[in-house]
Amino acid sequence: MKKYAIAIHGGAGTIVRSAMSPEKELAYTSALKEALLAGETILKNGGASLDAVEQAIRSLEDNPLFNAGKGAVFTHEGKNELDASLMNGKDLSAGAVAGVSNIKNPISLARSIMEKSEHVFMTGAGALAFAKSQNIALMPDDYFFVQMRYDQLQQALKSDTIIMDHTLPEDKKFGTVGAVALDTAGNLAAGTSTGGMTNKKNGRVGDTPIIGAGTYANNTTCAISCTGHGEFFIRSVVAYDISCLMEYKGLSLKQACDLVVMDKLVKIGGEGGLIAIDKNGHIELPFNSEGMYRASISQGENAIIGIYRN
Ligand code: ASP
Repeated sequence: MKKYAIAIHGGAGTIVRSAMSPEKELAYTSALKEALLAGETILKNGGASLDAVEQAIRSLEDNPLFNAGKGAVFTHEGKNELDASLMNGKDLSAGAVAGVSNIKNPISLARSIMEKSEHVFMTGAGALAFAKSQNIALMPDDYFFVQMRYDQLQQALKSDTIIMDHTLPEDKKFGTVGAVALDTAGNLAAGTSTGGMTNKKNGRVGDTPIIGAGTYANNTTCAISCTGHGEFFIRSVVAYDISCLMEYKGLSLKQACDLVVMDKLVKIGGEGGLIAIDKNGHIELPFNSEGMYRASISQGENAIIGIYRN
């Protein structure tokens, strides 16, 4: 039996201590703890990493603090278009969804696509129709209305910029959520969910729902969930690159993460980070931005919660 382990993230970016109030910090920390516990409880009881990842992400999707599910950012047209993906390291099965609205928990729709359809990736109206056929929970538009997000859109429209998540020019951060886990049976899983970027063009899709870019899991190597400027993560095929460096070049998880996040991504201007776990439960939480909301726990050890670089 393997020792279980799980890591989660709530986005990366310019998250600096000086811009954070004690109340805000506490709210983020509590939300991360709650999501970590939701996943850990499943693993502690011998449950599957896939279930732990889904439940941890659902908890973050339900929290307006994060740019996923309820707290998703607005597109240029003032809509919420959600992306998510999930992968099972045991058999490389995967499910992904992009550009859907009104889905309460896009990660669960991604899982349904993986398990109940003959496809891997569905988008827009077709994905919504499939969600309805699977009794996936839907919510009206106003469920997704979060004033802070709306204000961000107004700001972005004024300056005609596409802004990362709940980013303000002086407070730049990405708030995508994700989880990676290893269960006691030795199975790895990874999942990621996002609203994308504030003021994104109708139809824009980032790295989050793209298997190999924002999410990847393979029992022979690792499980990865990314957050950051999606266009760069797609071009760098970040999640799969880390797995490949381990599989083909024999790098450790840490070596592979450092190379991709701190070197390759930086060279092309890709800001962000990721959470990673290998088949032995070793966890890495690298980011090249100022901060990344993150938390992890390994069986028998204390939880680690982090926001800033130091
Ligand atoms: N990677 C996400 C995207 O580009 C954004 C984020 O991580 O906040 O859609």
